[in-house]
Amino acid sequence: MKIVTSVHEMRDLSMKERSKNKTIALVPTMGYLHEGHLSLLKEGRQRGDMLVMSLFVNPMQFGPKEDLAKYPRDFERDKKIAERAGTDVIFCPDSGQMYPGPFKTAVEVTELSGVLCGKTRPGHFKGVTTVVMKLFNIVLPHVALFGEKDFQQLVIIRQMVKDLNIPVEIIGMPIIREPDGLARSSRNIYLSADERRSALSISRGLSKAMDTFKTGNRNSTELISIVKNEIKSSGLKEDYVEVIDECTLEPASATANNARIVVAAYAGSTRLIDNVSLEKE
Ligand code: AMP
Repeated sequence: MKIVTSVHEMRDLSMKERSKNKTIALVPTMGYLHEGHLSLLKEGRQRGDMLVMSLFVNPMQFGPKEDLAKYPRDFERDKKIAERAGTDVIFCPDSGQMYPGPFKTAVEVTELSGVLCGKTRPGHFKGVTTVVMKLFNIVLPHVALFGEKDFQQLVIIRQMVKDLNIPVEIIGMPIIREPDGLARSSRNIYLSADERRSALSISRGLSKAMDTFKTGNRNSTELISIVKNEIKSSGLKEDYVEVIDECTLEPASATANNARIVVAAYAGSTRLIDNVSLEKE
């Protein structure tokens, strides 16, 4: 496995692979790998001749009061996990490589970036789309994999790829959970034992809403209330709970074909997100 820190070296490597007609798969991450990342790497391994994992804690997607400085990092551990998953290249530039000198350009997907998490985290998705566009231009992947855990991010990236005619296939991967249901996240490490217990109310609320949905209840307000009550009674602070259309991210009826319940809530100061598709059977 190669460790590449330079933008030029990464692009040269990708151009060489492309000239040999090799397929490049990219899994963008901020590191501190867990099973969620691993499932993306495993799928990427199947889909690409060369599997590149980028590891970059992107300052542009953190707000001034967010956790950029304390975001968990453990490169040696990540290296072992990535290698075991069959990664060929870790691309881990520093901020100076990614944002040299004055930086004056941004890629922004309007509307989709201003709702849900975008309301609480203004500028976050602009940072995400800009860095992902840069990673696409540096790594030159044929296929890139993203998790449904960050569902809004996935929808926004798909829109960017469509709008800007980017020749990359985007693959969305299902949410990987802890055995008790909590969606895996690098930020789970921040949780105290009490917060960890309370955080479970998110996935519990979602599965209760899903059970109710499966009995035939299509009332969005009631499904949302089930999740809100569960979260509230465990002491979490709700940011939003909504039933949305998976394409537009607009509030939707639970009767819609592509409806999804999305949640964001705080356990202490840790912001957690989760979602579940209201799939018709
Ligand atoms: P991050 O390192 O948190 O930026 O995540 C990198 C990629 O892994 C993103 O595409 C995430 O959506 C995905 N991811 C994070 N957690 C999970 C999870 N629990 N299940 C599936 N994918 C995940």
